[in-house]
Amino acid sequence: MRGTGAPRSLYARRMERVGPSAIMELLKTTAGGDYISFASGLPDPTLYPADLIRGIADLVLTADGRAALQYGPAEGHPPLREYVAEMLRTRGLTDATPEHILITNGSQQALDLTARALLDPGDGVLIESPSYLAAIQAFDSYDAHYHAVPMTETGADLDQAAEALAGGGIKLAFTLPTFQNPMGVTTDLETRQRLAELAAEHRVAVLEDDAYHDLRYEGDPLPPVTALAQNPWAIYTGTFSKTIAPGLRVGYLYAQPEVVTRLSQLKQITDLHTGSFTQRIALEFCRQGHLQPAVTRLRDTYRSRLAAMQTALEEHAGGWMRWTRPQGGMFIFAWLPEGMDAMALLPRVMDAGVVYVPGKSFFPVDTGANTLRLNFVSADENAITAGIATLCRVLREAAP
Ligand code: PMP
Repeated sequence: MRGTGAPRSLYARRMERVGPSAIMELLKTTAGGDYISFASGLPDPTLYPADLIRGIADLVLTADGRAALQYGPAEGHPPLREYVAEMLRTRGLTDATPEHILITNGSQQALDLTARALLDPGDGVLIESPSYLAAIQAFDSYDAHYHAVPMTETGADLDQAAEALAGGGIKLAFTLPTFQNPMGVTTDLETRQRLAELAAEHRVAVLEDDAYHDLRYEGDPLPPVTALAQNPWAIYTGTFSKTIAPGLRVGYLYAQPEVVTRLSQLKQITDLHTGSFTQRIALEFCRQGHLQPAVTRLRDTYRSRLAAMQTALEEHAGGWMRWTRPQGGMFIFAWLPEGMDAMALLPRVMDAGVVYVPGKSFFPVDTGANTLRLNFVSADENAITAGIATLCRVLREAAP
């Protein structure tokens, strides 16, 4: 007879905090349905440059097919590291050389590698509240302890950040200073400067996620937090996902060369390296001069969609809902009157044909029940106008 009783779980302890994402579950239930969706985290796939990429893939295979299909270095394809270093110098990381760059499997991997390299169970993470869900999930999987700092219209509340840092136990400060996901807020220069200085002063690592850098529809770019103080542990990450296509899975991180070496060792045991073929496609896309026109096209399209959503919200939600006014990115964040529950109200809004993501999932600590995130890039202007009218009508009827 074999043993009786409940089967013993063989999962490691880190799996206790790994679970389904509310957003992924929601997207599964809406897939194929006839909804106006403000829920996804995805760019508009009709804008992906499939024809250009077909030609580039052909060229890469013809000119460099053997290397493109061969294993490559863990740090990334050297000419792509060089290209990214040059690009980041123009963003204000003026000392960037190829040795500062690690090519990653999307910027998501940069978040995971950094967390894995730095966090022991129970280590403190200073985190904006709300913050990027998949980063929270990565930190959860290493059993992080959160010191959540509320986001304001100008960035994280630094008085609270300073207090948390003074309390000790924090190893890593995670920030999304540009068009934050989910809030859409851009951290102003003064807050960036102080945050950089605070982290350096307390010898805390900074992980700066700049995934939306190029999706700016108004205003001028600000320097990265990583460039604003001498901090040997400042790590900056970006991606080609929002400007070329996420399916390529090509992102990058910038850090001091010694940190890049250590993170490459970790990457090597994770996946050996980022795809040789897709790295070359991304590089050739940029070298042929397609990146800037692609960014301009995305900016023009998304800028009008953002404007359509702002106009519709002003018309239908003015006076009873509060929402952010992003200068770029993909998301507007909204607050229903206190006491309303965006999760509980979602089925009613879905019955009316519209879907959003309840904001609660984005808070590292349990709060934010009355908030929602609205993706303004994945539907066209007409759908946005109609969808916001419907969403506001249903939510208004439920308002106290
Ligand atoms: N950071 C943020 C803030 C994001 O929104 C995303 C994509 N949803 C990522 C990182 C990861 O993107 P990728 O891995 O495709 O570069």
